[in-house]
Amino acid sequence: MPEQTIALIAHDGKKADMVAFALQNRERLSRYHLVATATTGKLIHEKCSLPVQCVLSGPLGGDAQIAAMVATGQVAAVFFFVDPLAAQAHDPDIQSLLRICNVHNVPLATNAATATYIISEKTL
Ligand code: PGA
Repeated sequence: MPEQTIALIAHDGKKADMVAFALQNRERLSRYHLVATATTGKLIHEKCSLPVQCVLSGPLGGDAQIAAMVATGQVAAVFFFVDPLAAQAHDPDIQSLLRICNVHNVPLATNAATATYIISEKTL
């Protein structure tokens, strides 16, 4: 069975949460192919020593690239830690990614608590 992919994205205000989540769940995450937006992926690679395929930064189209991967069945789950307290210039891309996850019934965690539940299960 081919290795499954998890997508990781965190807004700037949630990047510390993402690094903490990745450190706490490093062993489980290491079983998956990880794809991330550029800044999130660089942080996870540097702080957690996990291999990460980086796409563009979110504001430059990275969310749209990940949405395309979700739409074409390449992603088993999306962990997208959104910052509800900050406006995002690329909100249309963010809404598109959230929508595409729901269109394709792909597990989507928008905060660390939900991501922890998903990664703890053996269902991915
Ligand atoms: P970044 O993009 O990981 O490149 O910061 C995330 C986002 O803002 O969507």
